[in-house]
Amino acid sequence: MTRIAIVTGAARGIGAATAKQLAADGYAVAVLDLDAEQCADTVAAIEASGGRALAVGANVADSEAVSEAVALVADELGAPTVLVNNAGILRDNLLFKMTDGDWDAVLNVHLRGAFLMSRAVQAFQVKEGWGRIVNLSSTSALGNRGQANYAAAKAGMQGFTKTLAIELGRYGVTVNAVAPGFIATDMLRATADRMGVGFDDFLAGAAKEIPVARVGQPEDVAAAVSFFCSEAAGFTSGQVLYVAGGPKA
Ligand code: NAP
Repeated sequence: MTRIAIVTGAARGIGAATAKQLAADGYAVAVLDLDAEQCADTVAAIEASGGRALAVGANVADSEAVSEAVALVADELGAPTVLVNNAGILRDNLLFKMTDGDWDAVLNVHLRGAFLMSRAVQAFQVKEGWGRIVNLSSTSALGNRGQANYAAAKAGMQGFTKTLAIELGRYGVTVNAVAPGFIATDMLRATADRMGVGFDDFLAGAAKEIPVARVGQPEDVAAAVSFFCSEAAGFTSGQVLYVAGGPKA
């Protein structure tokens, strides 16, 4: 039986690597991002490897769009029982300069988005008596200068994860979080630009602080998500796994 997975924010970065990994693991994958057209590369890569994928456009912070997107996945691929809440944005600023909009945008995409997607997908998981939810947290949950909004959202993801693990466990659903450290994606390219540092210098500087002496790649995170989604991880729930090239937390 082919299981159906939804990965949000899967047009690029960690989400794209995760969608490809889950397809390689045998899932049919709904590649969800703000704009369905932006998902074309991820879908094409999965199909080229013999997998099955569907591009889905939706803003995860929009309740109606989420309901429609999850219904579309159920119609086109089948009941979604695996969900990776990966979609994310940064609106960094020191507290005294952080606007209401910076705060709301980040909390909306990460926390409200994960809530809306999880609420929609759990209906299918409970019916099937099996499911996996993996939420993307971050080492920023432990505190990071200029990221009061993002740190609050990513710490919130951990409490959300533990609570869903308690509520959904009896239905065969496990819920875990992966908390990446420094991963080389467009998200951090934007941070380097803002700091006026070249991306390669930014990566080299970060690598010096990381015990394994390199920055992470999206595939490093996808491997951890893959484990949490696996059949073998059925007794692992409510956990936060830091994927940061060294110890955290
Ligand atoms: P990324 O390259 O910026 O990709 C994020 C994706 O999410 C983009 O395709 C983006 O679409 C999409 N997205 C944004 N808002 C959305 C919304 N409202 N609805 C649907 N999709 C939306 O980021 P990434 O580095 O791969 O990060 C993925 C996740 O890992 C995020 O939750 C991030 O916070 C977390 N994380 C990343 C790092 C890191 O070092 N990169 C570290 C720790 C945690 P658009 O392109 O259209 O904006």
